Amino acid sequence: MSRLPRFLCVCVMCLMAAAPVLGQEKTFHVLAFYSTTVEGDHVAFALQAIPFFQAMAARDHFEFMTTKNWNDMNAKVLSHYQVVMWLDDRPSTPAQRLAFQNYMERGGGWLGFHIAGYMSGRKEWPWFADFIGTVFSGNNWPPLPAKIDVDDTSHPVTKGFPASFESPANEWYSWNPDPRLSPGIKVLMTLDPSNYPIGFKNTLTHGDIPVVWTNTKYRMLYTNMGHGDKIFDSKLQNRFIENALLWLGGRLQ
Ligand code: ZN
Repeated sequence: MSRLPRFLCVCVMCLMAAAPVLGQEKTFHVLAFYSTTVEGDHVAFALQAIPFFQAMAARDHFEFMTTKNWNDMNAKVLSHYQVVMWLDDRPSTPAQRLAFQNYMERGGGWLGFHIAGYMSGRKEWPWFADFIGTVFSGNNWPPLPAKIDVDDTSHPVTKGFPASFESPANEWYSWNPDPRLSPGIKVLMTLDPSNYPIGFKNTLTHGDIPVVWTNTKYRMLYTNMGHGDKIFDSKLQNRFIENALLWLGGRLQ
């Protein structure tokens, strides 16, 4: 009898030691910024993205919060989060922009969709032009599906992906300069040239048009997908979006 309690005790210790292993996925905290007063197709994306990420947060055990108040882009609020997202808008005041710059330069994470990468010109926010490695140049219209090439199938975000896939209808942007040639930029996905010409009212006709990339000087990823209510129609693309956030959250190496 005297051995039984010791045995139980050892088992409890084993369980206690195992607990951190079972819960080894380090949690992280995400704050998604969005607006409901911007272009309708961008709001439509944001309102689908929020339940997508809420379900993901429950499944992958991290905290996902949202805000429509872009003045939450301040040092105090950002200090609680490892990743911020811009779903359908971007900061507009000098204070918001400076807070974001400081956050990123101190190791914060950023996942930007579609309009998040838009600027009317480099002079609007020079730091951001260097951060994202380019400036918006043009777009196709109306939104259309496109064949997307995966540039690197060994990166944690695109590991095991096919060399190309069909991406649901989106408004695709072109860029100047080519972000692929900018310092620190690593392109993960590109619009396949077989799509050209793409669009009717506005047409993209040629050139190198990256759609997903990261600036290796920061913990960030930009994806051009994010226009309209079809973005989450592709299981493979959904996996990419999920991987992107897990990678920024430190889960995928
Ligand atoms: Zn758009």
